[in-house]
Amino acid sequence: TNKYIATPKRTKEILTKYKFFFKKSLGQNFIIDANILENIINHTGINKDSGVIEIGPGIGALTEQLGRHAKNVLAFEIDQRLIPILEDSLDQYDNIRFIHQDILQADVKTSIKDNFNDDQDVHIVANLPYYITTPILTKLLQENLPVESITVMIQKEVAERMAAKPSTKSYGSLTIAIQYYTTAEVVMHVPKRVFMPQPNVDSAVLKLTIREKPPVYVADENYFFSMVQACFSQRRKTLRNNLTNYLSSEYDKETISTMLDNIGINGMRRGESLTMEEFATLANSFYQAKH
Ligand code: SAM
Repeated sequence: TNKYIATPKRTKEILTKYKFFFKKSLGQNFIIDANILENIINHTGINKDSGVIEIGPGIGALTEQLGRHAKNVLAFEIDQRLIPILEDSLDQYDNIRFIHQDILQADVKTSIKDNFNDDQDVHIVANLPYYITTPILTKLLQENLPVESITVMIQKEVAERMAAKPSTKSYGSLTIAIQYYTTAEVVMHVPKRVFMPQPNVDSAVLKLTIREKPPVYVADENYFFSMVQACFSQRRKTLRNNLTNYLSSEYDKETISTMLDNIGINGMRRGESLTMEEFATLANSFYQAKH
């Protein structure tokens, strides 16, 4: 399979041909192993009818494989230098389109409407720039896009936090923020050697399956997420102490203890032991007390 971009040989040829140099500040680590890409694609759930959005195509290693497996691909790349390289190297794929844009600025919903049919299942697949993993995923999830899944290669520790279970070291407010919108699963660990240049951190592939609706009822989403954050603000402190700090202008410690007792949550527990349901109960009851 030396014909694919995702080989050390083709990658080096392309870099030389276009005199391309990596920009560290853009998180440019390109994949040079087609087998890894095949594995990633097998986890995405895409087929010949699917639409795919890719973030950060680079020189097109993953894009090429997506083009082979899906109906059509729309790829957002922030680095202007890569656009002519991509147009050239993936010239023979008429089902791939590139948009030169920062994904954080992009109107993804409109792009989906303009590029895919209503009856197409759409998936997001990317080897993300690691320096903005969380902002990108948060943006995509909050926009309530008509997509089935998001499969991304990210830093291993971040993937583990997003897919964590209660009462583990990785469990935190990021876990709740992601799992409110999706079911999250780490599907692969990826060795450093499949990248050029090799990153300093370990990588994993995270699969997010979008939920049809949140798993819990929440009276006010912003309030819910702020309360979750408050409960984790000092991990070693009890729920009661973290909430007393956060709500000091409204309640004293005793009142908070009583309010927690009333909903059957022991204030001596730590935030990391609460399930999403318990966070929802907690946030809703404090919210109702105010309104
Ligand atoms: N998909 C390629 C691969 O797997 O070989 C490249 C992945 S590389 C880790 C990340 C890519 O995202 C780079 O091409 C980088 O220029 C691009 N990128 C960085 N920030 C971006 C942003 N805000 N919007 C869109 N693309 C971005």
